[in-house]
Amino acid sequence: MNNVLAIVGRPNVGKSTFYNRLTESRKAIVDDFSGVTRDRHYGIAEWTDKSFTVIDTGGYVANSEDVFEAAIREQVHIAIEEAGAVVFLVDVTTGITDLDAAIAQILRKSKKPVYVAVNKVDNFQLQSDATEFYGLGLGEIYCISSMSGSGTGELLDEVIKNFDTEAEEENKLPVYAIVGRPNVGKSSMINALIGQERNIVTDIAGTTRDAIRIHYNQFGHEFMLIDTAGLRKKTKVRENIEFYSVMRTIKALEEADVVILMLDAVEGLESQDVNIFSLAEKNKKGIVIVVNKWDLVEKDHKTATEFIDKIKEKLAPFTDVPIVFTSVTEKQRIFKTIEAAAKVYANKTKKIQTSKLNDVLLPLIEKTPPPAIKGKHIKIKYITQINASSPMFAFFCNLPQYIKDPYKRFIENKLRENFDFEGVPVQLFFRQK
Ligand code: GDP
Ligand code: GDP
Repeated sequence: MNNVLAIVGRPNVGKSTFYNRLTESRKAIVDDFSGVTRDRHYGIAEWTDKSFTVIDTGGYVANSEDVFEAAIREQVHIAIEEAGAVVFLVDVTTGITDLDAAIAQILRKSKKPVYVAVNKVDNFQLQSDATEFYGLGLGEIYCISSMSGSGTGELLDEVIKNFDTEAEEENKLPVYAIVGRPNVGKSSMINALIGQERNIVTDIAGTTRDAIRIHYNQFGHEFMLIDTAGLRKKTKVRENIEFYSVMRTIKALEEADVVILMLDAVEGLESQDVNIFSLAEKNKKGIVIVVNKWDLVEKDHKTATEFIDKIKEKLAPFTDVPIVFTSVTEKQRIFKTIEAAAKVYANKTKKIQTSKLNDVLLPLIEKTPPPAIKGKHIKIKYITQINASSPMFAFFCNLPQYIKDPYKRFIENKLRENFDFEGVPVQLFFRQK
């Protein structure tokens, strides 16, 4: 249920190097489409048959000396509470430092699985030095080199034992998660939906409580709602407010079928929102965008359209997403948000009959076939939807390797125009027939 891996450790042990190795995010950053700065500290990783979200905790620590240690310790607490597994990274070249020992002390009390990874073990000789880290009292150690990748496979083999493969439960209720930056109106939205106040504040080091799930069953809609805002923890270190909110968000996102991404109309779509959006997209989640506090925007007849254009420009190429303008305080379009989520869930789970798929798409493909390459004509013969938890389509053809991205986008657009997959990432596979 909670495929979230948190990487903790003091600065310079190699957390971001390890993170990059898991997520190949350097590649992702190079591939980015727009000018949005994306300092990503979380992303999707895959190992054998499992995919999970990795978060590099170090990215959220401020540089100011006085809060530094406190911030790291608190992040370790948050990571233990929120993540499904924790990798504690240490550095063989320095041995155990005071901060390592302090982190270990926190981790020893954790009930979550913790893996000690001794990094920078670049050669065989260093392995004997690494044995010092048994002294942390956290059991087995894994010698790795994040730089070369050696040892990381053995570590991941163990780590992913804590994670689930994607298993479709039968007859389960749709799960929606309301996510967004602090203050956009998530709690207000949930209060409006369930008709009561819920605002529980607990201390960060207090009792462990999982993200709250609310069973909603009213007005013909039944679903589970993950509340990322309702349980508010007082963080002792201001810098960790964002870290905590991101941690909560990625966890909710892992569990949800449909992500309701709330924005503040005054602030618009910021890079952090784009990050969450692309994480949801990569995770193949349904997405609804809610622009809240619409009451605060001065508007004329063009304002909404212009707002939509601006958002979609930043979300390209995946722009087939419903956008709802709400004012929670004035009770505007709250229920429309639920209807949009329900529609996206239906789109995500629907199966298109093979005959219908072929009857509609094959003539369009025949009219605009994939461009011939080196004099070879490419023929798509047959299409079928694969049984999966989000829409996947297999296109059987003679020369699948010659079908290029622009043509794939053309087909995806035709699929969306004809069958309505609004709010849902779709995947196309081209296979030899
Ligand atoms: P972070 O502060 O924990 O995120 O650490 P970084 O990933 O920024 O790494 C700190 C330094 O250690 C960088 O100069 C890395 O190149 C280096 N480093 C990371 N992993 C390894 C490794 O496996 N071997 C060696 N020799 N250096 C590494
Ligand atoms: P959260 O941190 O995302 O849960 O945000 P809250 O629900 O706590 O809302 C933050 C602030 O925004 C509160 O003062 C709300 O009253 C206010 N707020 C929420 N929705 C709206 C809205 O639609 N319009 C206006 N003007 N204020 C809102």
